[in-house]
Amino acid sequence: MSQWPEWLPLADRLSALSPYGAPQVPAEATLNTNENPYSLSPELSKAIAARIQDCARHLNRYPDRDATELRSGLATFINSQSATSFDVNNIWAANGSNEIIQSLFLAFGKSGAIGFTPSYSMHPLIAQVVDCKWRNGSRRADFSLDISVAKREILEFSPSLTFITTPNNPTGSSVTIAEILELAEIVPGLLVVDEAYAEFSDEKSAVTLIAANPKIVVIRTMSKAFSFAGARVGYLVADPAVIKALFLVRLPYHLSALTQAAAEVALEHQEELLANVNRLISAREDLRIALEGFGLTVTPSKANFLLFSGFDIPAPELWQKLLDKGVLIRDVGLSGYLRVTVGSDADNALFIQALKSAIG
Ligand SMILES: *Cc1c(COP(=O)(O)O)cnc(C)c1O
Repeated sequence: MSQWPEWLPLADRLSALSPYGAPQVPAEATLNTNENPYSLSPELSKAIAARIQDCARHLNRYPDRDATELRSGLATFINSQSATSFDVNNIWAANGSNEIIQSLFLAFGKSGAIGFTPSYSMHPLIAQVVDCKWRNGSRRADFSLDISVAKREILEFSPSLTFITTPNNPTGSSVTIAEILELAEIVPGLLVVDEAYAEFSDEKSAVTLIAANPKIVVIRTMSKAFSFAGARVGYLVADPAVIKALFLVRLPYHLSALTQAAAEVALEHQEELLANVNRLISAREDLRIALEGFGLTVTPSKANFLLFSGFDIPAPELWQKLLDKGVLIRDVGLSGYLRVTVGSDADNALFIQALKSAIG
């Protein structure tokens, strides 16, 4: 029986779906959505407020439809990180990388899309919402990507979009730049590399391949490393032809003047915002060692979270036990596994303590 009333003209493809719904419940340590635990400094939040105040006087006008200044700032950031030479015409910006993903499906999803599961659950969900055929490709039992199997599955399905998430969510594992290049050589359409966690990884970014391989497009976000999840800013680095096509599917004035202003200030303070990345990387290693010390198995991670297994109660039960102790982590729907975001030192200590008493 459908949960929807009969009079509602809901699209057939939507009626069986559930909305994205990571639980937003209050907890002492919130380690479930891979956010950066470090908040903005008072100086930076003041600088953002000052720019927003300026901007507020002009809210009678539509924002810069093309977000030119923000996109230029993002190009400069990528160039400084990866020694590339992109400009505004190589960057698209939107309300979180989720909007970028939706736009990619709308513009380029004509022959369907493939991704390799388990991976970011929003890729297939957004595909279904916009009526793009989705295929689940496979991974090895340890969640690493077998490139020769991936190539075969891509060629069999012949999608116009191939998704690679690296470091992958929820596993944390990454693929090498050489493997990305190998895939780019055989994909029928675009190779979409979702690098939401790139700043936490020592792998070279796929943006360095774009100039010679225009089929590669790279999704980045300010939500994780930049501590800017609440502002909703994601972006795409790609060949100018890809960006030009995205203008066809974007809604007019999609990125508000307030968002653009806040993100511009954040980019001006990128050093401060990214300063905690190294701290989180070393906390990730400490956390991994602690989990392994409990006899648990941890999937090797180059992101700001760890996927672990080896506990002997069902994952939902352990998840609830931890929540009862004030620690919210993520049940990603993989039987026998849970995912924890690397938090502040205090968050991590609380998590370790709660875990010890839950499994001990
Ligand atoms: C968190 C995440 C995103 C998206 O985030 P936005 O906040 O919409 O920018 C995209 N891809 C992956 C793999 C993620 O984990």
